[in-house]
Amino acid sequence: PPDVTKLGNHSWTLLHTIAAAYPEKPSIEQQNEMKTFLNIFAKIYPCWYCGKDFQSFIKKNEPKVMTQDDFGKWLCNAHNSVNIKLGKPKFKCELWKKRWKDGWDE
Ligand code: FAD
Repeated sequence: PPDVTKLGNHSWTLLHTIAAAYPEKPSIEQQNEMKTFLNIFAKIYPCWYCGKDFQSFIKKNEPKVMTQDDFGKWLCNAHNSVNIKLGKPKFKCELWKKRWKDGWDE
């Protein structure tokens, strides 16, 4: 079975890096593509209970995909909901772009 911790770390890296590459002003088509991507991602995520929780988060908190910053912060909030569930510290979402676009070392 997949290593849920390693899979999660790499998956968040992919997701936040996608947010950092998302257009500042996405077209309607790009916005719809991102929503479709998130729904399918949550459905096929190879840790089934993780994906299930992500699906319910998406249901309760409609993905904000109007701008890059909206999407980056929405994703940060989604990640924080998992951090809280796992007893990890909450990340300050105003720093998402510094962490994932401009980059910092951990
Ligand atoms: P991660 O949480 O993987 O974070 C990686 C890096 O992202 C951090 O080092 C930090 O620099 C940065 N970061 C942290 N928080 C944020 C944030 N809010 N916004 C932006 N950047 C941030 N694990 C389970 O055990 N149970 C689950 O139910 C579960 N559900 C998951 C659902 C999804 C959709 C995903 C992608 C992962 C899930 N995981 C789950 C895995 C879990 O979230 C972590 O990825 C895993 O525990 C490894 O944690 P980590 O300490 O390496 O840091």
